Amino acid sequence: MRPTEDSYRHKGLRKKLTDTIREKGITSEEVLQAISQIPRHFFLDSAFDEVAYEDRAFPIGEDQTISQPYTVAYQSQLLEVKKFDKVLEIGTGSAYQAVVLAELGALVFTIERQKKLFDANKQFAFLKKYPAIKFFYGDGYEGLPTYAPFDKVIITAAAPEIPAKLVGQMKPGGMMVIPVGAGEIQLMKRITKLDDGNLKEEVFDRFSFVPMVEGRR
Ligand code: SAH
Repeated sequence: MRPTEDSYRHKGLRKKLTDTIREKGITSEEVLQAISQIPRHFFLDSAFDEVAYEDRAFPIGEDQTISQPYTVAYQSQLLEVKKFDKVLEIGTGSAYQAVVLAELGALVFTIERQKKLFDANKQFAFLKKYPAIKFFYGDGYEGLPTYAPFDKVIITAAAPEIPAKLVGQMKPGGMMVIPVGAGEIQLMKRITKLDDGNLKEEVFDRFSFVPMVEGRR
């Protein structure tokens, strides 16, 4: 069962979590504000109520995880979201990252390859507050050609390399934030599509994500 009550205790823990993430180096006030607003415990089973505001990843079923808040903040900051940016997210999972993006003012198009996780989000009443998020069941490697091009693309699973089709769905000037690497550890990269179509690549810190897998399940 999911919790539905957001108590003063939860709010206090959330404030502490936000301070922790700030101390770890996140500087975007908009991102920190989003983390301090969103009831992360709603995205987890009530069994996790005591620990929901620790800066850790947790299981959400189907061998998947809700990302660590610091990681969510890190990717969100690199994406430099502006109001009404069209953002494509690969790997909806718990939908926590999608809600952070929506709080930043993005129009979010998020894809999940696992039917059970996709269906769980359809039943998740809290998400009704976010009409700016559109949920899709499909293979993220294909992107969403019908809704392209996007201002921003965020990949929340480890990709062995930059998915070419997704680069094709970026606007000129658009950015992709993606953890790249085939092993346990990936490098966070930011790819910018220049106006002449060439790509600029910036490399940031190391992270550890669950792998991006081809096809639906
Ligand atoms: N953004 C999530 C993190 C989820 S973990 C959150 O905030 O909780 C990564 C997710 O990516 C998993 O749910 C996994 O099923 C999904 N995934 C992996 N490969 C995918 C693909 N090719 N297309 C869409 N989703 C994928």
